[in-house]
Amino acid sequence: MKAIKSIRGMHDILPESIHVWQHLEGRLRGLLDGYGYQEIRMPVVEATELFKRSIGDVTDIVEKEMYTFEDRNGDSLSLRPEGTASCVRAGIQHGLLHNQIQRLWYLGPMFRHERPQKGRYRQFHQVGVEVFGLPGPDVDAEMIAMTARLWKLLGLENVRLELNTLGTPASRVRYRDQLIAYFEQHRDSLDEEALRRLHDNPMRILDSKHPETRAVVANAPSLMDHLDAESRTHFDSLRAHLDALGIAYVHNPRLVRGLDYYTHTVFEWITDDLGAQGTVCAGGRYDGLVEQLGGRGTPAIGMAMGLERLVALLEAREDAPQPPGPDAYLVVGGDELVGPALELAERLRSELPGLRLVQHCGGGSFKSQMKRADRLGAHFALVLGTDEHAAGTVTVKPLRSPGAEQSAVPREELARHLEQALHASAA
Ligand code: ATP
Ligand code: MG
Repeated sequence: MKAIKSIRGMHDILPESIHVWQHLEGRLRGLLDGYGYQEIRMPVVEATELFKRSIGDVTDIVEKEMYTFEDRNGDSLSLRPEGTASCVRAGIQHGLLHNQIQRLWYLGPMFRHERPQKGRYRQFHQVGVEVFGLPGPDVDAEMIAMTARLWKLLGLENVRLELNTLGTPASRVRYRDQLIAYFEQHRDSLDEEALRRLHDNPMRILDSKHPETRAVVANAPSLMDHLDAESRTHFDSLRAHLDALGIAYVHNPRLVRGLDYYTHTVFEWITDDLGAQGTVCAGGRYDGLVEQLGGRGTPAIGMAMGLERLVALLEAREDAPQPPGPDAYLVVGGDELVGPALELAERLRSELPGLRLVQHCGGGSFKSQMKRADRLGAHFALVLGTDEHAAGTVTVKPLRSPGAEQSAVPREELARHLEQALHASAA
């Protein structure tokens, strides 16, 4: 029969790389906990309307990337392409947002029907963080500082920060008209997609990837010339906070989000080590979204990191995290000793909580069992053979310290002996 394969762009994460994921997730959890963030878990499927209303009809995601289907009731549902919409929906639904301060994070798979390539998949994973109830710019700076700390924790050096402001919606109104007028003058050089967005979403054209359109964009009027006093103050204070923290950034006036509910701060962390898909983290303030989704006006800022891209950076490092071998591998010297070995292993696990002990199962020669212990990277082999069983001992054989002697250890002393030996070999 023909074997069934996974869907294009959707990947298994295999045991050989899972430790890098777990390392990354562990660091993230610790970091977020340290900044007072709480985890929230949302469903991966939502009403399609939620994404249309939040991400917007005239966006790549909603126009062509969503996995949308009718369920058996005829309702239009979509696999989530990102987490902010669901997080805001959950916050409104459960009354978490009004007159409250929330620092929330989530981790999970997102789904977008894009052209799969290195760093771009159809199922990928994000860690997202959202803060509600704080107008910034103090918390904007804190969020950026937290990400800078993450790169340090992970040992990633080649990641740079780009920063921009989108100002208030009011300060964008006049700019929008000017932008449309400018692009109208250069219609002939715009690509089809830009033309389609010209009137609905002109700011989105500013981050077009189309070469001819980019040339037009290069001379487009700048939002910086249209900022009102409030927008300027927010941006200037954020920059001052970052300067005081010693966090370097580049002001990139072309960094945009196309939708009206975005306000003030936008930022991206970019690396050159991943080729074209270099953005590892993107964030910004969205003071208008909660209201747009039916809640009461609530200031908010958030960001999302693409975990596949961070894993790729970690795996490329010389000191990439290695999977730890078990502390001990229990070698069973014959079928009649399977019962006593099971008992011994369970007793040891009770005596040494946290012990990473693999018992050999499935029989086989002493030699093949020792080989397996070695292949797994075990620190010690514990041998329970006929002689040991008769004498009430276990032979402890160091596998990772050349020259160290094996020793016959009485069973009642095994836990203590092992604990000390593990301690010594870790030092
Ligand atoms: P791009 O312009 O590269 O398509 P985006 O604006 O769609 O990015 P966001 O929606 O801001 O990206 O998502 C935040 C982060 O999630 C990105 O910076 C990236 O690290 C990651 N990401 C987005 N789409 C994908 C994908 N298809 N595969 C893997 N990671 C992704
Ligand atoms: Mg995209």
